[in-house]
Amino acid sequence: MNLYRLILILVIGIHLLPSTPKPTTWREPNLNRIIQHPDNQRYIRDSINRGHFMQHPQIDIILQPLLPNIIGITHNLGNNRYLIGLNMFHRQSILQRTLHHELVHVKQFHLNLLDKQTNGIDTWLGKPIDWSLPWASRPWEQMAEEETLQLYNP
Ligand SMILES: [Zn+2]
Repeated sequence: MNLYRLILILVIGIHLLPSTPKPTTWREPNLNRIIQHPDNQRYIRDSINRGHFMQHPQIDIILQPLLPNIIGITHNLGNNRYLIGLNMFHRQSILQRTLHHELVHVKQFHLNLLDKQTNGIDTWLGKPIDWSLPWASRPWEQMAEEETLQLYNP
């Protein structure tokens, strides 16, 4: 009797699942609000834009489609210019936080903690980067997450 009921529930469950409509709540995130978030602005002002204004990096921030597992990406374009891409298919709140994380990477490049040698090898604190390290074990990612945890409030 109990088993029969369980099977019945399972069958109902299987029939119900596909008919549940997937929520389609995607809206294009508001890039201006992401950039103007007070904690992101404060990080640019206090942690990145130090020294003479001529030395301040130029940071361009865009929304773009990225692979689903990539929420944000920072490109060091050289000549003190950086491009941060944010995955437009993620939520506003996630992108606001991700921008803070990516800004930490800009600071790391700006201070040459992250660097690229003339032979093309990427370095962290002057040592070649081992890209086989899992993401969570990479010290530059740990630093980006720590500073975001400390300095970013949603
Ligand atoms: Zn990162």
